[in-house]
Amino acid sequence: MSGFNLLHLISKSQPVVLRPCGLPSGTCRTKKTWPVTFSQEELKKRLTPMQYHVTQEKGTESAFRGEFTDHKEDGTYTCVVCGTPLFKSSTKFDSRSGWPSFSDLVSEGSVTLTDDYSHGMHRVETTCSQCGAHLGHLFDDGPRPTGKRYCINSASLGFQGGKVDAVVTETAPSEDGARAAAGGGSACTGAAGVKKEL
Ligand SMILES: [Zn+2]
Repeated sequence: MSGFNLLHLISKSQPVVLRPCGLPSGTCRTKKTWPVTFSQEELKKRLTPMQYHVTQEKGTESAFRGEFTDHKEDGTYTCVVCGTPLFKSSTKFDSRSGWPSFSDLVSEGSVTLTDDYSHGMHRVETTCSQCGAHLGHLFDDGPRPTGKRYCINSASLGFQGGKVDAVVTETAPSEDGARAAAGGGSACTGAAGVKKEL
């Protein structure tokens, strides 16, 4: 009996684990404002239902169903909402997860990382740093040298083929994103029309 009581005391005295920010999941995120914003009405018109669901409602497309999962052309993958360059085709690899996977970003800071405690697990959500579009998640089981796997929904991405160096610049991504948005989002409209070659 005494042994049971002892265990009982120990288990009850364990400290409560607090999240890094000390606030419920999502509280930190909602305080953030994004440099580029679009009205939900505009996005509903411009995006496909799946693109809207994934980027604005944190949805996830079905594995192996996205148009960029097996896409192998040279170029740059952009945010489908604001057109900001996010990933180069040279960092895309076959993770066999069913979603486009990348080992690195076009430029540091182009994606914002946030703790995601949904579905009873802890994952790291990836979000476009310019417009806040949900992209996917980041895992630590990618190939060297980064060891990172950006698991991204095709529906979050646009694609600009060729001339990777011309598209990717070393300037601050916030400036590029603002210019792309100010230009009427032409970078995204073309990408949304890309069809998978079946
Ligand atoms: Zn974006």
